[in-house]
Amino acid sequence: MSSDYFPTEAAKGLADSQLRSNLRVATHTIREKSAAVISEVDDWQQLREAGRRTKHHAVRHLDRHLLALEQSVTEAGGQVHWAADGASANRIVGDLIEATGEREVVKVKSMLTDEIGLNRALAERGIAAYETDLAELINQLSGDAGSHIVVPAIHRNRSEIRDLFRDQLDGHADLDDSPPALADAARLHLRRRFMTARVAVSGANFAVAETGTVCVVESEGNGRMCTTLPSTLITVMGIEKVLPRLEDLGVLLQLLPRSATGERMNPYTSLWTGITPGDGPQQFHLVLVDAGRTNALADPTGRQALHCIRCAACLNVCPVYERVGGHAYNSVYPGPIGAILTPQLTGMERGRSLPWASSLCGACYEVCPVKIDIPTVLIHLRGKVTKLEQQEGAGRNERSVMTFARIVMSRPRLYRLGQRIVRWQLRLLARLPRVARALPGMSGWTGVRELPEPEDDQTFRDWWRGRATP
Ligand code: SF4
Repeated sequence: MSSDYFPTEAAKGLADSQLRSNLRVATHTIREKSAAVISEVDDWQQLREAGRRTKHHAVRHLDRHLLALEQSVTEAGGQVHWAADGASANRIVGDLIEATGEREVVKVKSMLTDEIGLNRALAERGIAAYETDLAELINQLSGDAGSHIVVPAIHRNRSEIRDLFRDQLDGHADLDDSPPALADAARLHLRRRFMTARVAVSGANFAVAETGTVCVVESEGNGRMCTTLPSTLITVMGIEKVLPRLEDLGVLLQLLPRSATGERMNPYTSLWTGITPGDGPQQFHLVLVDAGRTNALADPTGRQALHCIRCAACLNVCPVYERVGGHAYNSVYPGPIGAILTPQLTGMERGRSLPWASSLCGACYEVCPVKIDIPTVLIHLRGKVTKLEQQEGAGRNERSVMTFARIVMSRPRLYRLGQRIVRWQLRLLARLPRVARALPGMSGWTGVRELPEPEDDQTFRDWWRGRATP
């Protein structure tokens, strides 16, 4: 990702009125639903604090909990694999599928497998991976990337989806755009996949160290089909998803659905522990993936991004996300959480414009169910990017300007003279907007803002001197 990717792509999103309209309707609907069910919970703030503590403790002692998880899963009949990066994880998953002799797998929605590009890696080995979440299916059929964490096809409206299904799914040339008709078409298409798949790949919302239990929550039932019907289940999980105790789920499973979809509980919460002879998959593999997470863990301020439970509440309230859309972030994690998580996972050299891809309004912090202080992390990461750019030799102009300002501001006479000159320049530039927009070194600022003309000749100092003393 180039460092200026976000500004370029954000400009495209801003120019797309259909996209902005789709996003506004969808995000406002979710956040109103969410606010209504949250208002029913008297101790919501205490619940948030409990969620924050749970994730803080889990991430703080990650090494211990991961080893405990490995032991529990192994004792329950599963196999645990460790992957330092996305390429290793993709190779492990590909090898496991090939060992079954299958060339097709069904998939439960998983942000991590999108992050590491699993589908593409499997396709290169001749293995077809079929997405079964409705929104992921829409994106797979259209060749689109996801644009929202919980609703990856949020940028599409119903008539666009109808056209896609008419074109891509057999026997649906007369499909209308009502939600039941669209859901039925997808259901028929997916049912055939579920009934024939011998291998499934899932992500994980949580995994419990003390019991080896893995948890996936979803709304459509596709996850339940994938985690029960095939004979082999491969779960690919980021290492930060581990929780110490089963009772921790009691907190997080209250916070997640209310914040994510505005539901009191998830329609489908699947929990499994290793394998059960004669019931469900008889082979279970858990692939634990780092892929930059230990880099984030090394940063005492930035590491709270690892507490994220992927509810997307921060996206739904973000004034920037609503206007530019998810694709502008060039990451499977768009919006405020993407602005702080992606640069830490990929390295600050890449995605360096992302810490600026969010306002500091604080709305994201207010809604985050595990109280991630996104504005503080944004400022922290901006500092890291600035330091990096200084090391690369950038920022010389800014440093020169600041040195000049220090000299002028520490000499009262020079400062007064400077004020007069700047006022004169501002008046001139306000009358010459074209010149103002093209000012060398300033056009990034003046090109998108109108310069205000100073109202009169009186400075604050003049006013202060001339005011009536009581
Ligand atoms: S940062 Fe908080 S609000 Fe945003 S997706 Fe993660 S848990 Fe949800």
